[in-house]
This record gives sequence, C-alpha cells and structure tokens, in this order.
Amino acid sequence: MHIVPVRAFTDNYIWVIRDQHHAAVVDPGDAAPVLDYLRRENLQLVAILNTHHHNDHVGGNAALLREFPVPVYGPKNESIPTLTHRLGEGDSIHLAEFSLRFSVLDIPGHTAGHIAYYGANLLFCGDTLFACGCGRLFEGTAQQMHASLQKLAALPDETRVYCGHEYTRANIRFAREVEPGNQALIGLAATVEKLHKQNMPTLPSTLAMEKATNPFLRCQQPEVIQAASNYLGKPLADPVSVFAAIRRWKDDFRVVREKG
Ligand SMILES: [Zn+2]
Repeated sequence: MHIVPVRAFTDNYIWVIRDQHHAAVVDPGDAAPVLDYLRRENLQLVAILNTHHHNDHVGGNAALLREFPVPVYGPKNESIPTLTHRLGEGDSIHLAEFSLRFSVLDIPGHTAGHIAYYGANLLFCGDTLFACGCGRLFEGTAQQMHASLQKLAALPDETRVYCGHEYTRANIRFAREVEPGNQALIGLAATVEKLHKQNMPTLPSTLAMEKATNPFLRCQQPEVIQAASNYLGKPLADPVSVFAAIRRWKDDFRVVREKG
C-alpha cells in the first residue's frame, strides 16, 4: 500500500491510497484527473473518502460513482448528497483491500462538520491542518478550530499529515513573520524551496514538523504569544486568543500581499 497525490485545480491534492490493483481516493474535487490516473495505472476504485462538503473536495464524487459504484464516506453533519456512509467522532472505517482501519475525528472550524481520518500513522485532515498553516474559519469559531488543531496535535509525532492543498510556501512566508527566529522553520523553508523548484509536492508533513514550525499549533510559545500581542496591540494570555489573533493576522497578510 502506498499513497500518491493527484493534483486538481490550481493547488488541490486528491490523495490516492493504492496497491497493485485497488485505489481509494480522499477528497476528489474533480473526477477527471482521478479517472486518468486509475486508467493509466489500471486500478479499480474501491472507496471515496470526503473530509468536508466544499466542492473542491467532493465535486468529483458523482462522476466517479458512475464508473465505480463504491462506498462514499463523509461527515454526517454536512450536506453531501452522494454520501453512502455518514460518519462522526468515534466511528471507524475499514478498507479491507489495504488492511487499513481509520478512526474518524470531528474537527470543526473550517466547516461545521469537518472530519479527519486517522490510522496506521496516516492523517487525512482536509482543510483543517495545512503544512505550516490551517484552514480559514468559514463556518466555525476560533475556539472550535483551536480545539480541533489541538486534537490533531495530540496524535503521535510520527503521524504523516496529508492535507488538501499545496499552500506550504505561502504559509511559511507568514509563519516567518510570526516567528522570525524559529530555526526549524528556516530549515523547512530551504527544503520547501528545493521541492518547489523540482515541482515536487511538499506533503505529506509530519506532526513533529508541524509542532516545530506551524504557528497555529504553537499558540503557547512565548515568541508566538508576543507576536500575536504586538499585532493586536494588547497583551494576550490564553491560547485561543493567540490563535484567533494570528488567524486574523494571516487573513490580513494575504489581503496585503494580494494587493501588492
Ligand atoms: Zn474547504
């Protein structure tokens, strides 16, 4: 069994879990690149896993189902018409072809019912945790997102993190504003530039790397607290306030960059 990224749209990753004959796909926003890959590799689709309802994660479900009538797993608290198995915290799924069992984690924040799949040291976390960043708060609160990220951070360090987008370079630019002195971050920036020049994915990450470099998982680090406090112009103490401040800072940072 191994895991392969299929690129979709400008920066989405559709993760393919595969062996010699079978494949399961995570968040197929577009069916075409998945069908191309399955045909080229002569693989039979056996399952679709969705993390949340956004169209760039579920938009390919229907077209894939026309060719492969497979189970579609996804969040029970979101509206995804093609789901066959509605999942929430405490549920687990078994992909027999790969002898893989995933636990389902509720991780609201980016969307209200967002879930993650975790097992065998693999984490498929959609648009909640990104390499060096996190998803935007479209439907949830800062408190929810912070709790969701803390839940993911409590998984073992060696967990490999498969995110929904290739956002790593932009995320690192922001993270270095927050923590200019973070040596792990400086090292990661160099690695990611090399991968980018070779047009290689920067994912998966690991939770150990995220805990060392991702400002959204580092809301209790003095340097992050200080930077967030400076940004808001008032002292912040609790981690949720620090998280909310750097989430807002990042949203503003993006706007400034896009204008300039
Ligand atoms: Zn999304």
